[in-house]
Amino acid sequence: MKLTPTVNLDVQPAIYFALGVAHAVREIYAEKSLIVTSARDSHTAGLHPEGLAFDMRTRDMEEGEASLVLARIKQILEPLGYDVVDERKSVKGPHFHVEYDPKGNERFYV
Ligand SMILES: [Zn+2]
Repeated sequence: MKLTPTVNLDVQPAIYFALGVAHAVREIYAEKSLIVTSARDSHTAGLHPEGLAFDMRTRDMEEGEASLVLARIKQILEPLGYDVVDERKSVKGPHFHVEYDPKGNERFYV
């Protein structure tokens, strides 16, 4: 896993779990290490300020590769209470946003 220079990894345990999943999926399906561009960040919206989100770089992957990685991460994480958002068209730069926001009985642990 690689971090861009401003990343604050003071995040909650649920995000460490998701970082591991994202790293493994990228290694398997894109043969590239995970690049985290944001984690706890008071200047962004969503759950970043609470340490419950991270963003991963997508521009180092081809379009089809990125779509496959997104599909696999969603398949694993969304049933466990995560939201995985395709932000490849974001004005802040292309990325996937992952946040832990469990509904109902969703949990990342049993
Ligand atoms: Zn984000």
